[in-house]
Amino acid sequence: MNYRRLGRSGLKVSELSFGSWVTFGTQFGVSEAVGLMKTAYDHGINFFDNAEGYANGDSEEIMGKALKKLGWPRDSFIVSSKVFFGSKKNPLPTQKGLSRKHVQEACDQALERLRLDHLDLYFCHRPDPDTPIEETVRAMNTLVGQGKILYWGTSEWSAEQITEAFRISERLGLVGPTMEQPQYNLLCRERFEVEYAPVFSEFGIGSTTWSPLATGILTGKYNDGIPKDSRLELPGYEWLRERVLSEDGRAKIAKTRKLAKIAEKIGVSLPCMAIAWCLKNPNVSTVILGASKKSQLKENIKALDAVPLLDEKIMQEIDINLVSCIVNKLK
Ligand code: NDP
Repeated sequence: MNYRRLGRSGLKVSELSFGSWVTFGTQFGVSEAVGLMKTAYDHGINFFDNAEGYANGDSEEIMGKALKKLGWPRDSFIVSSKVFFGSKKNPLPTQKGLSRKHVQEACDQALERLRLDHLDLYFCHRPDPDTPIEETVRAMNTLVGQGKILYWGTSEWSAEQITEAFRISERLGLVGPTMEQPQYNLLCRERFEVEYAPVFSEFGIGSTTWSPLATGILTGKYNDGIPKDSRLELPGYEWLRERVLSEDGRAKIAKTRKLAKIAEKIGVSLPCMAIAWCLKNPNVSTVILGASKKSQLKENIKALDAVPLLDEKIMQEIDINLVSCIVNKLK
C-alpha cells in the first residue's frame, strides 16, 4: 500500500480506503463488518469512511462496534463522518443541514455511535443553501478547537462554494477545508478534472473520491441484467436501480463493455483497471472502495498492481473509447 498526503495537510492516508455506504446496516451487521475491515487493514488500508445518514446511523453503530472488537490502536487508523442529510429516524428541521446547531450535535451523535472521542475527518455531505457558508466554517472550527474533529472538508460542493469557504477562512484566520469528497470514476470525471482544477492548484485541497466503480457498473455485473445478490435489488435502493436501467445507465453500460476489452488486453479485471485509473490522477488522495464481500475487496485491492500497466498509450486508448461512445450516441 502507498500512502498519500491528504492535500496540503500532514495526514498520510492509504491510497485505497474503505467505505460503508449501502453495506453496513443494510446488507450486513457487525461480524461481516469486522471481517471486511480486518481484510482492509491487513492490506494497509487506514481510512474508513462513514456518514450520519448511512443506514440512518446504523452504519456508524456497526463500525463503532467493529472497531471495538478489532481493538486497533487509535493512532493507526482514520475514521470519518459526514453531516447534512440527517437520518430518517430524526426528521425534524433542526436535525439536518449545516447549521451550527446540527453540525455540533451531529458530530456528538456520530462520536457516540462510533464509540470514539474524535473524528479524524468530518465532511459537509452536501452544500446547504439555507445556511451561510460562514456559519458552517465557524462551526467546523469550533469542533476543531474542542478536539472533536481533526480535519474538516466538503462533499460535492461546487468549486465556487469551496473557494468561498477558503476565502472566509482566510479572512477570519480560521482553518479552511482540507479535503473534498467527490464522485470520480471512468464514467464521471468532468467535475473532478475540469471544475475542481483551480481548487486543486490554488488551495491544494485533498480528495477522498467515491464510487470508483460507478456503484458497481464498472465491474460489468450489470451488462446482462441485475444479479439477485446486488445492491440494486435491495429495498430502498429502487432509485439506484432506475438510474442504472435508464437511458443514461444503458449508455454507461455500453462504455463499460468497451473498457472491458482494454482490461482484458492488459490482463487485469475491469474493476482493477477502473480503480487503478482513478489512482493515476495525482489530485486523488485516496480512492474509497465499496465491497459487500471479502472476495470483492481482495480483488479490488489488486488494483495497486494494475497502476503501472496503465501507461500513456493505455490511458489514451481509454480516453478514445470513452469519447467514441459519446460520438456514437450523438450520431
Ligand atoms: P463502488 O462504486 O466501488 O461500488 C461498490 C459496490 O460494487 C460493492 O458494494 C459491490 O456491490 C460492487 N462491487 C465492488 N467490487 C466488486 C467486484 N470486484 N465484483 C463485483 N461487484 C463488486 O463504491 P461505492 O458506491 O460503494 O462507494 C464507495 C464509498 O464511497 C461508500 O462506501 C462511501 O463511503 C463513499 N460514498 C460517498 C458519497 C458521498 O456523497 N460523499 C456517495 C457515495 C459513496 P454489490 O453488493 O451490489 O455486489
